[in-house]
Amino acid sequence: MKLMVATNNKHKLSEISEIIDTVLPKGSIELYSSADFGKKILPDEIGTSYYENAEIKANAFFEEFGLPTIADDSGLEIDAINGEPGIFSSSFAGEEGNHKKNRDKAVAIISKVPEQARTARFRTIFCYIDSSQKFFVEGTVEGRLIEEERGDGGFGYDPIFIPIGYDITFSQMSSENKNNISHRANALRNLIAELKKRNLL
Ligand code: IMP
Repeated sequence: MKLMVATNNKHKLSEISEIIDTVLPKGSIELYSSADFGKKILPDEIGTSYYENAEIKANAFFEEFGLPTIADDSGLEIDAINGEPGIFSSSFAGEEGNHKKNRDKAVAIISKVPEQARTARFRTIFCYIDSSQKFFVEGTVEGRLIEEERGDGGFGYDPIFIPIGYDITFSQMSSENKNNISHRANALRNLIAELKKRNLL
């Protein structure tokens, strides 16, 4: 099937493509992005939940390109502050996309609580839209935050996030390993299962 990925971010597109390749025979899904059509779509993510933001992005790309479309919205949920920053993860420290400042703010928060209270999770919601249906799937990965950054791979909060069952951060993992256990991987596996259930794949 043909699937538009509602993102302008090449890194996200290749991550999604890598994850799909671990689950399905190559060629089962032909992925497209706005770059394939020489266009940039920048919908305002003004939703109040992951669901609303994913739907806003999916709608905007579907309206523009008309292909079955998936869009995701993700975030980090820190238990010590009741699941914040959530949908505001990329601007947690006040400056959109300043990952280092965001991590420093997260570290300042968790350093004030005991180690056993430094739990957190990443969550991803995918929205799927085509001309006749719309659905959502979710994926999470549980873990804990640490005070000192470790590793140089990945992005965002990866250098301070250790998934449950591991003693290395997402940044220290190979992208193959991260893409096997991440929130996006879990959400995409649920998406693929739902596409099959609906006979779309
Ligand atoms: P997005 O909705 O996937 O663009 O994610 C929003 C924000 O959540 C990112 O800017 C990061 O701050 C954080 N985030 C989401 N996924 C990850 C991840 O896999 N590693 C680290 N940070 C992430």
